[in-house]
Amino acid sequence: MAISRDTIFAWIKAYAAAIASNKEYLTELDSAIGDADHGVNMDRGFQMVLSKLPTVADKDIGSVFKLIGMTLVSSVGGASGPLYGTFFIQMASVTAGKLELTPADWAAALEAGINGVILRGKAAPGDKTMVDALLPALNAFKACLAEGDDMRTALQASAQAAQAGMLATIPLVARKGRASYLGERSAGHQDPGATSSQLLLNMAVDTLGSRMSAC
Ligand code: ADP
Ligand code: MG
Repeated sequence: MAISRDTIFAWIKAYAAAIASNKEYLTELDSAIGDADHGVNMDRGFQMVLSKLPTVADKDIGSVFKLIGMTLVSSVGGASGPLYGTFFIQMASVTAGKLELTPADWAAALEAGINGVILRGKAAPGDKTMVDALLPALNAFKACLAEGDDMRTALQASAQAAQAGMLATIPLVARKGRASYLGERSAGHQDPGATSSQLLLNMAVDTLGSRMSAC
C-alpha cells in the first residue's frame, strides 16, 4: 500500500480546514500561556499554503512539502512558523523525487521533520511544546510498523499517541518558547503547539489512512 501525491494534497487541505475551524480554540489556548496568536498564525500560514498548492500540482511529494515549508517560514510569525516550516522542509529532504510514499517512507519523513523541529527549537520531551505530541506519534507509528500492522492501524495509533502527548502537556511547566516566561504559572494549561500538531496527525488518519492505493 502506498500514499499517493493526491492523498498528500488531501491531507494538507484537510489540515488547513481543521486549522481554520480550530483557529479560535488554538488562539484561546495561546491566550492562557502565550500571546493569543497561535490560531491566527497557523491559519494565515495554511491559507497561504492553500493558495500556492496549485503551483506544485504536478510535482513530486518532496517539492510539495518544500513549498509548504518555505511558505510557512515566510508567512507565519512567531515560533510556530519557523518550526512547522522546518518540519515540512525536512520532510521534503527525504521525499524528494517521490510520487508516492510507502509506510516506511512516511515514518522516515515524519522522523526527519521531527528531528528538524528538535534541532531548531532545542526542545526536549516534557518541555511542553509541539514535540510532546509529535515524538510519541512517531514512536507509535514506528512500533506499529515493526509489529507488521497495516497503515491505517499505525496512523490511528500515531494520532492516539499524539493526543495523549497533547493532554500530557497540561500539568507540565513550559521550558521553551513564550510560555516558559510564565514559569510555574504555565502549568494547568494545554500547549497550543502540541494541539495543532495533534490535529496534523489526526487529519493523517482521516486522509492517508482511508485513501491508500495498492502498490
Ligand atoms: P509564539 O509563541 O512565538 O507566539 P505561536 O503562538 O504560533 O508562536 O506558537 C506557540 C507554540 O510553539 C507553543 O505552544 C509550542 O508548542 C511551540 N514552541 C515554542 N517554542 C518552541 C521550541 N523551542 N520548540 C518546539 N516548539 C516550540
Ligand atoms: Mg503565540
